[in-house]
Amino acid sequence: MKRFTIFCLCSICLLFSSLTEAKPYKVEEIPMVHLQDRTRYVSNPDGVLSTAAVTAIDTTLYALEQQTGTQVLVVAVKEIDGGDCFDFAYRLGQQNGVGQKQKDNGLVVLLVTEERCIQFATGYGLEGNLPDAVCKQIQVRYMNKPFGKGDWDTGMIAGIQAIRQQLDGTGSPLENRNVEEDNSLITILIILICCFLVVPFLIWYSIRQRRRCPQCHKHTIREVSSRVVGRSNGFILEEVDCLCTNCGYTCRRRRKKNDDEFRGGHGGPFIGGPFFGGGFGGHGGGGFGGGSFGGGSFGGGGAGSRF
Ligand SMILES: [Zn+2]
Repeated sequence: MKRFTIFCLCSICLLFSSLTEAKPYKVEEIPMVHLQDRTRYVSNPDGVLSTAAVTAIDTTLYALEQQTGTQVLVVAVKEIDGGDCFDFAYRLGQQNGVGQKQKDNGLVVLLVTEERCIQFATGYGLEGNLPDAVCKQIQVRYMNKPFGKGDWDTGMIAGIQAIRQQLDGTGSPLENRNVEEDNSLITILIILICCFLVVPFLIWYSIRQRRRCPQCHKHTIREVSSRVVGRSNGFILEEVDCLCTNCGYTCRRRRKKNDDEFRGGHGGPFIGGPFFGGGFGGHGGGGFGGGSFGGGSFGGGGAGSRF
């Protein structure tokens, strides 16, 4: 009897785990809840998001569609077939025709927890109001941090809220520029400052120090004569007589100099800096066939992040 009970318990456990175990979805296997109920936009087959979060997002996206006509499909799953979030999001839009056919105003928001990716795919008609850089900013500002801690509800609700505010114009407008582009601009600026301010200052400072008179402490030391006393390895050793024009202090110094005749040119290091090319190219896109959503077309706009 006891053995039978254990067997039953094991069987139930196995059955339960096979039911709840996530499987990698193919695009066509993602359930399209919107087709059964037009007030629902969130496909959450693995229960990644809580029921409360799904309801909140549905409410937001229903209001957004009533106001602006924008259709949004949110998909949250554990695993996808192939593991390519970018490709999967676009094919979700393509095969379901998200967005109105004339306006191409569809948006796909894909969260894949095992891949640790969030991907937006925007239709042609949304690329003006929701440019790639803004998509990226929304992810960076509202979604990546909570997603990184496994707080799927918080990240998704905040991200969808930001999308709505961006599209209906109620939120503070996000700037249309790229985070990476900003970083490389700052790098260039720092390099330019180094080249044009710091290096000349150091040269000027060392010259000034050499002209400082040890007796009267004024910067009035002048070279009066110099002669070569040695030569080796492309350098010449010079002996320099100097005089302070203020107090008459005299000194004799030795210095090493690049031998221009020996080298046949001007020595000395030139400090340059690498320049970073910008440019974020668009992606190739394709038209969508007419779908049950509305048949919107996607041009490859959007953005993706890993967290
Ligand atoms: Zn002096």
